[in-house]
Amino acid sequence: MVHVETTVRATDPVAGSIVLFMPVWTPGSYLIREYARHIEGLTAEEPARATKIRKNAWRIDTGGAAGVVVRYRVYAGDLTVRTSHVDETHAFLVGAGLFLALEGSEHLGARVEISAPPGWRAATSLRRVPGESGADGTHRFEAPGFDALVDAPIELGTHREERFDVLGTPHRASIWPHDAIAETDLRRLVDDTRTIVATEAALFGGVLPYDAYDLLLHFAQRGRGGLEHRASAAIIAPPATFAARDSYLDTLSLVAHEMFHAWNIKRIRPAGLTPYRYGEECYTRLLWWFEGATSYYDWRVLRMAHLCTVDEYLDHLAGEIAYLDQTPGRLVHALEEASFDAWIKLYRPDENSANSSVSYYRKGEVVCALLDIEIRARTGGRASLDGVLAHLWAEHGARELPVPEDGMQAIFERVAGVPLGDLFDAWIRSPTEIDYARTLAHVGLTIERSARADAPPASLGLRVRSDGGRAVVSSVIRGAAAWRAGIDAGDEIVAIAGARIEGTKVDGLLRGQTPGREVEVTIARDGRLATRRATLDSAGADRVKIVPDPDASPAAREACTAWLGKADD
Ligand SMILES: [Zn+2]
Repeated sequence: MVHVETTVRATDPVAGSIVLFMPVWTPGSYLIREYARHIEGLTAEEPARATKIRKNAWRIDTGGAAGVVVRYRVYAGDLTVRTSHVDETHAFLVGAGLFLALEGSEHLGARVEISAPPGWRAATSLRRVPGESGADGTHRFEAPGFDALVDAPIELGTHREERFDVLGTPHRASIWPHDAIAETDLRRLVDDTRTIVATEAALFGGVLPYDAYDLLLHFAQRGRGGLEHRASAAIIAPPATFAARDSYLDTLSLVAHEMFHAWNIKRIRPAGLTPYRYGEECYTRLLWWFEGATSYYDWRVLRMAHLCTVDEYLDHLAGEIAYLDQTPGRLVHALEEASFDAWIKLYRPDENSANSSVSYYRKGEVVCALLDIEIRARTGGRASLDGVLAHLWAEHGARELPVPEDGMQAIFERVAGVPLGDLFDAWIRSPTEIDYARTLAHVGLTIERSARADAPPASLGLRVRSDGGRAVVSSVIRGAAAWRAGIDAGDEIVAIAGARIEGTKVDGLLRGQTPGREVEVTIARDGRLATRRATLDSAGADRVKIVPDPDASPAAREACTAWLGKADD
């Protein structure tokens, strides 16, 4: 539990009452989280009185006093980047779920005083009150307004602290648990992070947009994720990050992603998210850019900084295309609609999600890569997505002017000097199939699809999960064999063609089958056995590789080098 005391000073006594409310979401994570559900025991100090008036708001009658004091407790048991977590080693505090806002006066500054166990240190991008060290367990910080207060998570505790400079600007990595990673791994992570930040800064004119930066790194088995802030980021990565190259590159790309957001979304901001309205959903059609381009650059920056090879980069991009291949929702939900619907789709996945929607992160990344290639091709290499970034920074980020919700195509065309409406129509505004090969040909690459080497030749087109050792269908691909046979998510698969399933090994039973053959599938639904007749599909070509086209022209090969650098660098 976190015990919170909020003092509102200099309240106009004539007003007689104020309203305090807790945000229902936190910027960067587009889900109504109802943080107020974790509040308990809220009371106001006499003579004031608190009355709950909405799910997340209280009216405080001041009782004639010139200020009020409100006390409450917040449950903090969820270790994610967007929820507070407290245990005997640390307290990770997320402002949106901890602090109450004074309704109508969110512009007012705040002072935060934290009483922590002695010896605990604090890491946050909130400004420490000058002259304070926090050594006695009391930490005092200031925030110029409610936006600043909730845009700076606080890590308190026994974490390890590592300081480094990039372009003369101080950065601090706080690693929890303090012994989560080995010394050599920490060195490598800090060195590579320094390279990443310098590479990102170069894209935006070589200047960092903040005075200091806090990277709050949690190493935990539970989950992987990050949340961006103006001068900090919270990241959860698995402790096994350093055990294999692909997991290390994944964590590096996560660091690159969250730090890239310091420019792209925290300062270059969509109009739909400006200002943040903490009591309701804020809608934007532009997450395909703000998350998609950030996802494109999180790996592109690794490549630009020579932290991954061209092959590793292309394998990553091919993996994103494979995800799209296996997501029928790509033909249902356009990219900008997926952005608008983030609140009810991406953040609320269910068994039908893959059939009905598409991730604006993953499709956004692929589309940004393709837009980059197309802009380069249509301008003979004079313009690129990097130019779009630089323009967005100069015209919007540096000047803190929001990007109009319908303004992105015009910005792209101004930078490129060529029409791009056909691409925006096909890739962003409508849910049509993308012709990857046509665009990849501009850079001398081609796409190859094949079945997984260990895949059986025939497929039902469903996924199963284990439920008490039983194979329960978790999702059915739209139009696939199981879908046509009337097998639903939630059905238990008991047998295929008379052979009982072992555990969840559907593949094992399909190994001897051939595509086109009709088989009996025994299912259990709601306690009753039933038989469905399914005509098997051939195994999907769900492996994707992007490879050099041996017939590519020298000009296309040069364009590829301009895009990704030399293959052996
Ligand atoms: Zn992001």
